[in-house]
Amino acid sequence: MPSRIVLMGAPGAGKGTQAMELAKSLGVPHLSTGDLLRGAVAERTALGLRADGYMRAGQLVPDSLVLDILKERIDRPDAQHGFVLDGYPRNMEQANALDAIIPIDLVLVFTVPESELMVRMTERRICPACGRTYNLVTLPPKLHGQCDVDGTELVHRTDDRPETVATRLRTFHAATSPVFDHYRMSGRLHSIDATGTPQQVRTRLMAAVHAADVAAAAPGRSAAHPS
Ligand code: AMP
Repeated sequence: MPSRIVLMGAPGAGKGTQAMELAKSLGVPHLSTGDLLRGAVAERTALGLRADGYMRAGQLVPDSLVLDILKERIDRPDAQHGFVLDGYPRNMEQANALDAIIPIDLVLVFTVPESELMVRMTERRICPACGRTYNLVTLPPKLHGQCDVDGTELVHRTDDRPETVATRLRTFHAATSPVFDHYRMSGRLHSIDATGTPQQVRTRLMAAVHAADVAAAAPGRSAAHPS
């Protein structure tokens, strides 16, 4: 099974939910740079205080700050046998920095039409306690405004507000196109149709992970693990 996996896709493409479940089923940690940065902001660490303004504005946090927080996380013992990385890399500088730290086996790109992304993000609500994500239209909580798991009051992330979402989508497209090309050229990129129900997306995701594994095991060269 490929064990160092990157999930990519525009904000709101549904990576977070799927990354958490994929990591669980592979028995590796889910590393989200967004979560790591939000944690640093909440704890008011020096790094968090510097990242806060960029995040509120829907802009990328400077590469060196994100790399520091990611490196520290990848070095922890639980990530030594693999991870599902979500939210990184977002530009070529980050892709090159990641290549220099650790080899990535497989990059899965979630594709969703832009109009649907807008609705998904502005309707998104998150449990601040357990991180579970809801959508008021497609995946509402059982009780209005409360997490199904722990009853915590759900929050609307400040960077999921419509004006910030538009900035985030523009930033994403400008910066990540070359990153897709980079991974495509090295044969590690697979696209996943991320429309439909979370279960449908999960099925497609698992099929892609298994296909990469089969390809890696096949004699000769493979698409996901080029020799
Ligand atoms: P996310 O939860 O992945 O949507 O990230 C939320 C915010 O955290 C982004 O809008 C950025 O401000 C910041 N962020 C997360 N990952 C990165 C990254 N790889 N590079 C720069 N900024 C990031």
